[in-house]
This record gives sequence, structure tokens and C-alpha cells, in this order.
Amino acid sequence: MNRVDAPIRNRVRVVLLNAALGPLDYRVPEDMDVFHGSIVMAPLGPRKMPGVVWDADSFPVDEIDAKKLRPLLELREVPPLSAPLRKLIEWVARYYFASPASVLRMVLSSGAAFADNRPITEYRLNGNIPKRMTPQREQALEKLAGVQGTISELAFKADVSIAVMRGLEKAGALDSSQASPFADITRPDPDFAKVDLSDDQKQVSEKLVHAVQDSVFQPYLLDGVTGSGKTEVYFEAVAEALRQDKQTLVLLPEIALTEPFLDRFKARFGTEPIAWHSGLKQSDRKRNWHALADGDARVIVGARSALFLPYKNLGLIIVDEAHEVSFKQEDGVRYHARDVAVMRGLHEKIPIVLASATPAIESRHQVEQGNYELLELPARFGAATLPEIEALDLTQDIPERGSWLAPTLINALEENLAKGEQSLLFLNRRGFAPLTLCRTCGHRINCPNCTAWMVEHRLTKRLACHHCGHVMPQPEKCPECGDEDSLVACGPGVERICDEVQMLFPQARTAIVTSDTIWSPAKAGEFVAQMEAGAIDIVVGTQLVTKGYHFPNLTLVGVVDADIGLEGGDLRAAERSFQQIAQVAGRAGRADKPGHVYVQTRMPSAPVIQALIKGDRDGFYNAETESRRAAAAPPFSRLAAIIISSEDNAEAIETARLIGQTAPKLDGFAVYGPAPAPLAMLRGRHRHRLLVHAHRSVELQAIMHQWLEKLEWPRAVRVGVDVDPYSF
Ligand code: ADP
Ligand code: ZN
Repeated sequence: MNRVDAPIRNRVRVVLLNAALGPLDYRVPEDMDVFHGSIVMAPLGPRKMPGVVWDADSFPVDEIDAKKLRPLLELREVPPLSAPLRKLIEWVARYYFASPASVLRMVLSSGAAFADNRPITEYRLNGNIPKRMTPQREQALEKLAGVQGTISELAFKADVSIAVMRGLEKAGALDSSQASPFADITRPDPDFAKVDLSDDQKQVSEKLVHAVQDSVFQPYLLDGVTGSGKTEVYFEAVAEALRQDKQTLVLLPEIALTEPFLDRFKARFGTEPIAWHSGLKQSDRKRNWHALADGDARVIVGARSALFLPYKNLGLIIVDEAHEVSFKQEDGVRYHARDVAVMRGLHEKIPIVLASATPAIESRHQVEQGNYELLELPARFGAATLPEIEALDLTQDIPERGSWLAPTLINALEENLAKGEQSLLFLNRRGFAPLTLCRTCGHRINCPNCTAWMVEHRLTKRLACHHCGHVMPQPEKCPECGDEDSLVACGPGVERICDEVQMLFPQARTAIVTSDTIWSPAKAGEFVAQMEAGAIDIVVGTQLVTKGYHFPNLTLVGVVDADIGLEGGDLRAAERSFQQIAQVAGRAGRADKPGHVYVQTRMPSAPVIQALIKGDRDGFYNAETESRRAAAAPPFSRLAAIIISSEDNAEAIETARLIGQTAPKLDGFAVYGPAPAPLAMLRGRHRHRLLVHAHRSVELQAIMHQWLEKLEWPRAVRVGVDVDPYSF
């Protein structure tokens, strides 16, 4: 611990882990050595509440009389949160209009920090089949093969109740063991399996290696086509951080990508890194938290929440697939992990690498502004070439009735099958059909809680809302007019495409890859193994298959509907379509066999499609950037959405109007609305929205904090701010 300051005596300010409470002052007991950042337990009424000792200047409060202060109860034996991390927390709270407590909760990871060192009892199936079987028990036995965890973790994973798991335990179907949260961690070896880099790769990696040595804040945009070796190159920087005894954080956009990453990392460094994501068991969460806080864990790969962890000596941050929309968190603290990663780099004074084959317009803009340094890898590694991309005009190359695939694409699939090569069909729609419609009365089956259609999932024979998770059995007759046999599935989802493929090619081995089928890193691992073993001929998948994977025998990609992404017309629609299709195209022909990509569209002359066919990425980006500039849209301006929601619509509207009416009138600061939010109803709450548009020079946060802090609204109304919003 490199701290020079003496312990704080007498009075301390504590940020408690409760968003409803502001910071409170406490008395420090004589025998307790607390510092800024120390994690403590403090009394609150009759209860005990965790909190962190904070710099008093950061959160001024009305000082209470020293005699009235209550003493802290406990000091946890974990390193205090560092000053750079505390500054980051303050920045996130202020920038994204979140309470410090809600940011702190991510840092302390729901209890991992407070857990004692008692081992956790975990269970796993032991192969005994209970005499009495129920559908739930069967489901649990099927889903829990090879899984270990606490009873509640197992219940969650198997999607059964805790009572069902307890029943299985009583019936003797589970074995228990004690998982120690403090197991040893093996260090990755920087020289385990070194790779000979190409000249291009070497140039880039040397820059990064020097950056790690110099240890100063600098964001790098590592821009290289898919398969150019971005991962190999940033691994060199990771190796250097390991040599320097510094920690590296690698952020990935999806949990599903963790498993393949772990394997690849192990091949290069001899051991797996530490993982951090929401799918982690309690025992692993505890163990990993302490290991990275103590500095034992050298490399941590994780989802966006890993950004807030208390690393002991972070030396490098890598954000892979940095353009990904999933880095934007939409619940709780609404932050963008790419931006927070850069801020963390700034406070920690370390380099940060944003790797992408299709960088976000915002990141390219930062390069143009001179804030980020651009590192380019222009070509695929080795003999691999970029795939040929061809548009299939669905108005000319017309699919047969009831089919979603153009004849040309079907022929190509057939040829590829005959060659023994693998194919991928991409459609960013889970389930069988996005809409169920009554032919008789025209009724559409909607979610009762959201402004959204219920999506048919034929594999589970249910309709599901993708916004709130509401499910219902597939209805047999129209809920509106009661007509039987009148409900029809409209439009395709991946399950429907897979049905078609099976009909066309009964001999082909198919797989569906969506968050419904790949719901854990282990499942992703199984999928990768099957692909590598050649046990799958045709994959039908959502955006989950578009990134990260490297399958040498995958040579054909079909984009089923290139036009869906362009619907809705939000700011980033064209950019996102381009990124998604370029990414999925990047899965084809990654080794010595050339790849071919067919893009089905009704608008073959749309700029996005043209840019893809011609491989004119820069042309597309420049045009897109110019149109943003012309529209004074981000990154040339700043946006914030104020979302006002309530179960009572009138109350929500009333509050939205009040906020709108009190908006400050300032140059370069405009407020639009209120209007119904894009999802006008979500999880049973009516949502209205005000949109704030500001010049880049305007201090958006300062103005908005001043404005909103003065206002009051009914308790049942929630007012949330979404800074740099994505969905609007
Ligand atoms: P990207 O991250 O840009 O998509 P990868 O790092 O995954 O690219 O590289 C693509 C493939 O090429 C991987 O299988 C990788 O191991 C291989 N590769 C890249 N560079 C080298 C190299 N210098 N030597 C050997 N293999 C390489
Ligand atoms: Zn819903």
C-alpha cells in the first residue's frame, strides 16, 4: 500500500451503500485506523450498513455536533479504495446523474467486499436419479450437468424454484462441497507461447509496449480489419504489463465471448485470466474480487461491470470490440463502458486500447481531435483475405412463397455443404417470429406491460416479451375475437430460418446461436468446440455470432435481412447496420479458404449496402460523419434524455411538463418535449421523455444538476437521466 497519509482521527465522512441516503459523518473509535477509501460498517438507526470513508471536500454536508456522532462499528480488512478510483466514482456519479452509492455498489460488487472468509457450500449433481421425477426435476437434471453452485445459483441456472432444488438434495441427487473463496491464483507467463508478429503488427505492438512501460494516460484506437491480429497485438501489451508486475483489464462486450477468450489467453500465457461477469458464482465472485484487490490477479477479463473494481495496480485497459452497443448500460447507472474506461485510464494515468474493426464514429472523431492515437492494421494476417461481399436484391432474386432465403443464397449454401465447409446465416431476431397476428380481426399480441409485441419462441412453445421478460403460453385462439386457427406468425426469427434450412437440407447439421441457446460461457464453449470439430454445417444466429469467433472452415455468410437495422431511424441506425454486417462478414474466410458474403436487401443502392459491397469503409464513415455534423448531432453536440416514468400516466405527464416548463433558457442549450418515450410503456410504467441538446462547449452536467435538484415530484414518479443516450 503506497499511502503516505496518516490515519484519520475523530470525524469521518462516509458514503453509505444506500442510494436514498447522502453521506453521513461518524466518529472514529480510538483503536481504528481508517483512511480515505476504507471500507467500514456504520450504524444507521438500529441497523448496520456498509460504506466507504470519503474525502470530506467532495460531498459537503451540514456538519453535526461532534458529541452527537455515532462511532463506526467495524473496519473491513480489505485495501482502501484508491484515490484514482474514488475520483472515477465521483466523476461517474456526476456525469451520469447517479448516486455515489449506486456506483459504489458496482465497486463493492454486492457483498463480495464484505464477505467473510467462511467457505461457501456448493452443490452439484451426483448422477443419482430420484425415484420420483417431475418435469421441473427433469429440467434441473438436464440443465445442471457439470454445474456447481449454491442452491439458489443452481435454481436460477435451471430455471426452477429453490424448493425443487432442496427436494433434489433431499432425494440424494446432489453432492455438496466447500468452496474456499481464497484459492491460489496462478500467474500468466508473458513468455509462455510467443508469437512471431508481422511487420505491421510489430510496429503497432511496439507502440503499445512502450505505452505500458511509460505508464502515462493515452487512449489508442486500434483499428484493424477482422482477422488482422488485433488480439495478438494487444497480447504483447498484456505481456509487458505482466513483466512490469502490473494488472491488465480486458473488457469484452458479451459474456458469451469470455470462454473462447479464456482458451485463447491460456494458449498464449499458459494459464487462464480471472473472469468477471454477472454469471459468476458467489464463491468465484468473492475469490476474484479479493484477488484483484490484493493484486494477486494479474489479468482480469470481464464485462463492463469489471471497470469499477478496485484493482491494486492497474497498468493497462483494453476494450475489445470497442464499437459494441452492449457497452452502453441501460439500467441502473446508465453509463457507457468505453467512455468510463477512458476516464479510468485518465485517473490511473495508464494507456487504454480501444480495439475494433469498425470503430464508433465517436472514437474516430476523438482521433481527429487529436485526443486518441490511431494505430492501424490494414490487412488480414497471413494468407487470409477479406471476403467478397455481394448484395442480393430481394425484389429481383425473389424467395419462394413462405421462404426467407433468395435462390442464389440457397444455391450457395448447397454448394458450401457439398464442399464440406461451414456457413452462417445472420438475423438479429431471437425466436421464431417477431409478431403473432390474428388473420380474422387483425389483433396483434402485445405485451401487457410494454409497448412491444410478444415474440414467438417455438422451441419453448411460448410467447415472450424481450423487454420485461413476460411470457405466456402460445395461445390457441385469438385473445381478442376468439377465432380459432386464425393466429399467424409474421416475419422470421432465427428459429424460423433454421426450420427453413432444415427443410431445404435435411442432411445438414444446424445450430441456433442466440442468448436463448448460449446463456452461459460454458454453452458458448460447447458451441465453439462443435464448430471446431466440424459437427455443425450451418449456424443461424443473432448478433451473438458476429464477434470474436474465429472458425477457419466458415466460408459462407448470409445476412438474411440487411434492412431491419435501418428501421426506426435513430441517430446510429446506419452506423450500427454497417458495423454489424461488416462484423458478421468478418467471420467468413478467416484462414486460407476465401470467404463469400451475401447480403439480402430490398434497398441495394442504400449507402450502407454500397459501402459494404465496395469495401469503402472510410467513404461510409466520412459521409456518416458529415451528416452528423450537418445535423449538429453527436459527436458534434451533446444529448441527454430525461425519462419520466410512473405507473400512473397522468402523474408522469404532469411531472414531465413541470420539468419541461422549468428548463433553463441558455445559449447552446435546448430542451425538446415532453413526448412519449420510444418505449412508451415498459414493465408497466408509462414513460415520457425530454431531450436535451447542447453545444459541446456547454457544461451540460452543471446546468442540469442545478435545474433538476430544485424540483420535486411525487414519490411514485421516477426521473432518470440518460446521458449520451443510445435509444431515442
Ligand atoms: P482480430 O483480433 O483482429 O480479429 P486475431 O488476433 O484474432 O485478429 O487474429 C486472427 C487469426 O490470425 C487468429 O487465429 C490469430 O491467432 C492469427 N494470427 C494473427 N497474427 C498472427 C501471427 N503474427 N502469427 C500467427 N498467427 C497469427
Ligand atoms: Zn414486456
